[in-house]
Amino acid sequence: MKYAFLPHPIPSLPIAGSDQRFPVRRIFCVGRNYAEHAREMGASDQAAGLEPPFFFMKPGDALVSGSGELSIAYPPITKNLHHEVEMVVALGAGGVNVAAEAAHKLIFGYAVGLDLTRRDIQGKAKEKGHPWDMGKGFDQSAVAGEIRPAALAGHPGQGRIWLSVNGELRQDGDLSDMMWKVADIIANLSTSVRLEAGDLIYTGTPAGVGPIVPGDRLEAGVDGVGTLRARIV
Ligand code: MN
Repeated sequence: MKYAFLPHPIPSLPIAGSDQRFPVRRIFCVGRNYAEHAREMGASDQAAGLEPPFFFMKPGDALVSGSGELSIAYPPITKNLHHEVEMVVALGAGGVNVAAEAAHKLIFGYAVGLDLTRRDIQGKAKEKGHPWDMGKGFDQSAVAGEIRPAALAGHPGQGRIWLSVNGELRQDGDLSDMMWKVADIIANLSTSVRLEAGDLIYTGTPAGVGPIVPGDRLEAGVDGVGTLRARIV
Protein backbone atom coordinates (compact mmCIF):
# COMPACT_ATOMS: atom_id res chain seq x y z
CA MET A 1 0.00 0.00 0.00
CA LYS A 2 1.26 3.46 -0.92
CA TYR A 3 -0.13 6.47 0.93
CA ALA A 4 -0.19 9.89 -0.72
CA PHE A 5 1.43 11.29 2.43
CA LEU A 6 2.60 9.97 5.78
CA PRO A 7 -0.36 8.70 7.89
CA HIS A 8 -0.94 10.34 11.27
CA PRO A 9 0.76 8.40 14.09
CA ILE A 10 -1.56 6.28 16.23
CA PRO A 11 -2.39 8.09 19.49
CA SER A 12 -1.43 6.04 22.53
CA LEU A 13 -1.28 5.98 26.33
CA PRO A 14 1.53 4.86 28.62
CA ILE A 15 0.82 1.73 30.67
CA ALA A 16 1.93 1.79 34.31
CA GLY A 17 4.76 -0.67 34.98
CA SER A 18 5.25 -1.51 31.30
CA ASP A 19 7.29 -0.28 28.34
CA GLN A 20 4.36 -1.08 26.05
CA ARG A 21 1.85 1.60 25.08
CA PHE A 22 -1.92 1.34 24.70
CA PRO A 23 -2.93 2.22 21.10
CA VAL A 24 -6.06 4.39 21.07
CA ARG A 25 -8.85 3.91 18.55
CA ARG A 26 -11.98 5.94 19.41
CA ILE A 27 -12.93 8.10 22.38
CA PHE A 28 -16.48 7.75 23.71
CA CYS A 29 -17.75 9.96 26.55
CA VAL A 30 -20.80 9.57 28.79
CA GLY A 31 -22.83 12.73 29.45
CA ARG A 32 -24.29 13.42 32.91
CA ASN A 33 -23.35 10.32 34.86
CA TYR A 34 -23.29 11.90 38.33
CA ALA A 35 -26.60 13.35 39.59
CA GLU A 36 -24.99 16.39 41.29
CA HIS A 37 -23.22 17.37 38.08
CA ALA A 38 -26.39 16.82 36.02
CA ARG A 39 -28.17 19.23 38.38
CA GLU A 40 -25.41 21.86 38.18
CA MET A 41 -25.79 21.66 34.37
CA GLY A 42 -29.52 22.36 34.74
CA ALA A 43 -30.88 18.88 33.95
CA SER A 44 -34.06 17.89 35.77
CA ASP A 45 -33.91 15.35 38.60
CA GLN A 46 -35.82 12.96 36.40
CA ALA A 47 -33.34 13.29 33.54
CA ALA A 48 -30.59 12.92 36.14
CA GLY A 49 -31.72 9.48 37.27
CA LEU A 50 -34.00 7.61 34.97
CA GLU A 51 -32.89 8.28 31.42
CA PRO A 52 -30.57 5.83 29.65
CA PRO A 53 -26.95 7.03 29.28
CA PHE A 54 -26.12 9.19 26.27
CA PHE A 55 -22.79 9.41 24.49
CA PHE A 56 -20.71 11.88 22.56
CA MET A 57 -17.28 11.43 20.98
CA LYS A 58 -13.91 13.05 20.63
CA PRO A 59 -11.46 12.25 17.82
CA GLY A 60 -8.75 9.76 18.86
CA ASP A 61 -6.10 12.34 18.03
CA ALA A 62 -7.62 14.89 20.44
CA LEU A 63 -5.72 12.89 23.07
CA VAL A 64 -3.04 14.45 25.27
CA SER A 65 -1.23 11.76 27.23
CA GLY A 66 1.88 11.12 29.22
CA SER A 67 3.28 10.33 32.62
CA GLY A 68 4.65 13.66 33.90
CA GLU A 69 3.04 17.12 33.96
CA LEU A 70 1.13 17.47 30.69
CA SER A 71 1.04 20.73 28.74
CA ILE A 72 -2.32 21.69 27.29
CA ALA A 73 -2.69 24.65 24.94
CA TYR A 74 -5.65 26.93 25.77
CA PRO A 75 -7.95 26.30 22.79
CA PRO A 76 -9.36 28.92 20.35
CA ILE A 77 -12.94 30.33 20.10
CA THR A 78 -13.74 29.99 23.82
CA LYS A 79 -13.80 32.29 26.82
CA ASN A 80 -14.94 29.53 29.16
CA LEU A 81 -12.78 26.40 29.09
CA HIS A 82 -13.94 23.93 31.80
CA HIS A 83 -12.26 21.01 33.56
CA GLU A 84 -14.15 17.72 34.01
CA VAL A 85 -12.23 14.99 35.83
CA GLU A 86 -13.33 11.50 34.78
CA MET A 87 -12.33 7.88 35.16
CA VAL A 88 -11.33 6.53 31.75
CA VAL A 89 -12.00 2.91 30.82
CA ALA A 90 -9.57 1.46 28.25
CA LEU A 91 -10.86 -1.54 26.29
CA GLY A 92 -8.50 -4.39 25.44
CA ALA A 93 -11.14 -6.36 23.55
CA GLY A 94 -14.29 -5.55 21.61
CA GLY A 95 -17.81 -6.83 21.18
CA VAL A 96 -21.36 -6.09 20.25
CA ASN A 97 -24.43 -6.55 22.48
CA VAL A 98 -22.14 -7.30 25.42
CA ALA A 99 -23.95 -8.47 28.56
CA ALA A 100 -23.24 -6.31 31.63
CA GLU A 101 -22.06 -9.44 33.46
CA ALA A 102 -19.41 -10.01 30.76
CA ALA A 103 -18.37 -6.36 30.31
CA HIS A 104 -15.39 -6.42 32.69
CA LYS A 105 -13.71 -9.01 30.46
CA LEU A 106 -13.32 -6.33 27.77
CA ILE A 107 -11.49 -3.91 30.06
CA PHE A 108 -7.72 -3.60 29.72
CA GLY A 109 -7.38 -0.96 32.42
CA TYR A 110 -8.28 2.45 33.81
CA ALA A 111 -6.79 5.95 33.71
CA VAL A 112 -7.48 9.38 35.17
CA GLY A 113 -8.76 11.71 32.45
CA LEU A 114 -9.96 15.23 31.75
CA ASP A 115 -12.90 15.85 29.41
CA LEU A 116 -11.98 19.46 28.58
CA THR A 117 -15.01 21.43 27.47
CA ARG A 118 -15.54 24.77 25.72
CA ARG A 119 -18.60 25.40 27.89
CA ASP A 120 -19.72 28.54 26.05
CA ILE A 121 -19.60 26.75 22.68
CA GLN A 122 -21.37 23.68 24.12
CA GLY A 123 -24.02 25.96 25.66
CA LYS A 124 -24.75 27.64 22.32
CA ALA A 125 -25.00 24.22 20.64
CA LYS A 126 -27.48 23.02 23.29
CA GLU A 127 -29.61 26.17 22.79
CA LYS A 128 -29.77 25.69 19.02
CA GLY A 129 -30.04 21.90 19.02
CA HIS A 130 -26.68 21.73 17.23
CA PRO A 131 -24.10 18.95 17.71
CA TRP A 132 -21.66 19.20 20.65
CA ASP A 133 -18.53 18.41 18.62
CA MET A 134 -17.00 21.90 18.64
CA GLY A 135 -17.68 22.23 22.37
CA LYS A 136 -16.27 18.83 23.25
CA GLY A 137 -14.12 17.34 20.48
CA PHE A 138 -11.52 20.04 19.78
CA ASP A 139 -7.72 19.57 19.65
CA GLN A 140 -6.19 18.44 22.97
CA SER A 141 -9.64 18.09 24.57
CA ALA A 142 -9.09 14.51 25.81
CA VAL A 143 -6.43 14.32 28.51
CA ALA A 144 -5.40 11.03 30.10
CA GLY A 145 -2.64 9.76 32.36
CA GLU A 146 -1.08 6.31 32.58
CA ILE A 147 -3.31 3.26 32.26
CA ARG A 148 -3.41 1.06 35.36
CA PRO A 149 -4.02 -2.47 34.05
CA ALA A 150 -7.05 -4.25 35.51
CA ALA A 151 -4.99 -7.44 35.62
CA LEU A 152 -2.85 -5.80 38.31
CA ALA A 153 -5.24 -3.47 40.14
CA GLY A 154 -8.73 -4.89 39.52
CA HIS A 155 -11.89 -2.92 38.72
CA PRO A 156 -12.52 0.15 40.90
CA GLY A 157 -16.22 0.51 41.78
CA GLN A 158 -15.82 3.03 44.56
CA GLY A 159 -13.27 5.55 45.73
CA ARG A 160 -12.57 9.26 45.50
CA ILE A 161 -12.47 11.07 42.18
CA TRP A 162 -11.16 14.61 42.60
CA LEU A 163 -9.54 17.59 40.89
CA SER A 164 -7.76 20.67 42.18
CA VAL A 165 -6.73 23.86 40.38
CA ASN A 166 -3.66 25.68 41.75
CA GLY A 167 -3.98 23.61 44.92
CA GLU A 168 -7.67 24.46 45.50
CA LEU A 169 -10.03 21.45 45.51
CA ARG A 170 -12.77 21.98 42.90
CA GLN A 171 -14.24 18.50 42.26
CA ASP A 172 -14.54 15.81 44.93
CA GLY A 173 -16.85 12.88 44.24
CA ASP A 174 -16.98 9.12 44.57
CA LEU A 175 -17.05 6.50 41.81
CA SER A 176 -19.95 4.81 43.61
CA ASP A 177 -22.09 7.87 42.73
CA MET A 178 -22.03 7.01 39.02
CA MET A 179 -25.62 6.58 37.88
CA TRP A 180 -24.52 4.20 35.13
CA LYS A 181 -21.84 1.80 36.32
CA VAL A 182 -18.96 0.88 34.01
CA ALA A 183 -20.44 -2.55 33.13
CA ASP A 184 -23.80 -0.96 32.26
CA ILE A 185 -22.12 1.74 30.16
CA ILE A 186 -20.23 -0.88 28.12
CA ALA A 187 -23.35 -3.02 27.71
CA ASN A 188 -25.44 -0.04 26.59
CA LEU A 189 -22.82 1.43 24.23
CA SER A 190 -22.22 -1.98 22.62
CA THR A 191 -25.83 -2.05 21.45
CA SER A 192 -25.13 1.06 19.32
CA VAL A 193 -21.65 0.33 17.95
CA ARG A 194 -19.24 -2.59 17.80
CA LEU A 195 -16.72 -1.80 20.51
CA GLU A 196 -13.09 -2.52 19.66
CA ALA A 197 -9.77 -2.95 21.45
CA GLY A 198 -8.24 0.50 21.81
CA ASP A 199 -11.50 2.31 22.48
CA LEU A 200 -11.55 4.66 25.48
CA ILE A 201 -14.69 5.50 27.44
CA TYR A 202 -14.77 8.65 29.59
CA THR A 203 -17.31 7.79 32.29
CA GLY A 204 -18.62 11.21 33.31
CA THR A 205 -17.69 13.87 35.86
CA PRO A 206 -18.77 14.65 39.42
CA ALA A 207 -20.03 18.12 40.42
CA GLY A 208 -17.76 21.16 40.69
CA VAL A 209 -16.78 21.78 37.07
CA GLY A 210 -15.49 25.28 36.38
CA PRO A 211 -13.26 27.53 34.29
CA ILE A 212 -9.50 27.25 33.82
CA VAL A 213 -7.14 29.80 32.29
CA PRO A 214 -3.57 29.82 30.96
CA GLY A 215 -1.06 29.34 33.76
CA ASP A 216 -3.38 27.14 35.85
CA ARG A 217 -1.96 23.93 37.28
CA LEU A 218 -4.37 21.02 37.51
CA GLU A 219 -3.99 17.95 39.65
CA ALA A 220 -6.52 15.11 39.52
CA GLY A 221 -6.85 11.62 40.89
CA VAL A 222 -8.99 8.53 41.11
CA ASP A 223 -8.46 6.17 44.07
CA GLY A 224 -6.96 2.90 42.90
CA VAL A 225 -6.22 4.27 39.44
CA GLY A 226 -3.66 7.05 39.79
CA THR A 227 -3.11 10.78 39.50
CA LEU A 228 -2.66 13.27 36.68
CA ARG A 229 -0.95 16.65 36.51
CA ALA A 230 -1.47 19.20 33.77
CA ARG A 231 -0.68 22.82 33.04
CA ILE A 232 -2.69 25.13 30.79
CA VAL A 233 -0.37 27.16 28.55
MN1 MN B 1 -17.66 14.85 30.69
